Amino acid sequence: MRFLPSPNHSERTRPVSLVILHYTETPTLERAVRILTDPDLPHPVSSHYVVGLDGEIVQLVPEDRRARHAGVSFWRGETDVNSASVGIEIVNAGIGTDAGQPAYPDAQIAAVIGLCRDVMARHAITDVVGHSDVAPTRKVDPGAAFPWRRLAAEGIGRWTDEFASGDASDADLLASIGYDVSDLAAALRAFRLHFYPEAILAGGSRTHERLVAVERLFRETRRSGVRRCDTVDNRAGMVQNRSDV
Ligand SMILES: [Zn+2]
Repeated sequence: MRFLPSPNHSERTRPVSLVILHYTETPTLERAVRILTDPDLPHPVSSHYVVGLDGEIVQLVPEDRRARHAGVSFWRGETDVNSASVGIEIVNAGIGTDAGQPAYPDAQIAAVIGLCRDVMARHAITDVVGHSDVAPTRKVDPGAAFPWRRLAAEGIGRWTDEFASGDASDADLLASIGYDVSDLAAALRAFRLHFYPEAILAGGSRTHERLVAVERLFRETRRSGVRRCDTVDNRAGMVQNRSDV
């Protein structure tokens, strides 16, 4: 891992409880590093790590410092998401190309999985979410092409392929997971980007049923006091604790 220090950081005011994944919206690692280490931008930005297309990891900010990657954000009542998170930028040109969002190469995702696993173990983190999850009115990264299901199979974040029925409102379910629901349409779009990409890519229409299943998964895994998740119980699609890591 290379360390290319960014000057764009400050003191943390919260313990680390969250990993936020982003795409860089740049085609190359070099260009991303240039932006994330530039102190002269009108709004200087940074992240703790950036992961290249070939899986190279560059650290820009030490984990005990507050990097500037999330902007105005919200998750589970936390409004200073930068103070409460480790930010990982993943090189990807993003949407806005004629061909749509480029796929994330296998080597890059393998590196993201290893990095997330290390960060989660260091800080006893269970929530790994996207920038779009914490800033649904402003952001769409890491995008519908991001393989959240594959990460969950490696114990990173949560995933279920289930659909379930329930009476709770979409707003209540989203809020229970952690979303800011002050703009419900934006929160629903962010939810689909992360947990129901078929709805974005292929017109799936069972958002409420997926929402019921995902909210149940979050509630159950949080209630059981899961601190470190590194296995997926395929039977239930539930991320579960294993204490020998
Ligand atoms: Zn972002």
